[in-house]
Amino acid sequence: MTANIAAIIWVAGIVIWFIIRWPHQKRARKMKVASHRRSNAERAVLLAASVGLVVVPAAHLTTGIFNFANYPFIPALGWAGAIVMAGFLWLFRESHRQLGKNWSITLEIRETHKLVTDGLYQYVRHPMYSAFWLWAIAQALLLPNWIAGLAGLVGVGLLYFSRVAKEEKMMRENFGAEYEAFCARTGRVFPVFWRS
Ligand code: SAH
Repeated sequence: MTANIAAIIWVAGIVIWFIIRWPHQKRARKMKVASHRRSNAERAVLLAASVGLVVVPAAHLTTGIFNFANYPFIPALGWAGAIVMAGFLWLFRESHRQLGKNWSITLEIRETHKLVTDGLYQYVRHPMYSAFWLWAIAQALLLPNWIAGLAGLVGVGLLYFSRVAKEEKMMRENFGAEYEAFCARTGRVFPVFWRS
């Protein structure tokens, strides 16, 4: 493992991520929305996540703009990053597949919304956000640069901490006791195996 190979793995991860998401994004545009919690704050944190996960590392890799913040590449961290990236892509694909038509990029309730509580969702209620944390960790392990490597954690942190409580409130208002019971037996981003 070299720093160049690690950077190529990061790029491949982004390309595969895009390929996984594209059909869902296309379908989501056609789905009827019953209610939503879109706001400027929501847009701002989505933008922050994209900047941290894609724009900052891509700018660094193409222009070397943050080279002053480089540190020596450690091959073992690169390997760990490759494994975490594979875990992220698997979890991202599976959570998208299992949420199906209920997925949306911002906080929305569909006209035909169903609460998904099986598959991954029997253990954890935000597996897609777990996947985003894995992506940010993979980036930190693959890119030996204090700015480009850590920007993803900052972006995902802003998105996650500003959104998760709002999302749970919205789900509770729509699904009531069913969502309460779902929360009681699942973890937020870490799976809970002993209560289900
Ligand atoms: N937080 C979830 C979903 C992210 S997508 C995860 O990390 O896997 C965001 C949209 O998914 C929200 O607008 C909400 O309407 C929907 N959603 C979240 N949890 C859901 C569930 N258990 N079943 C159905 N839809 C859900």
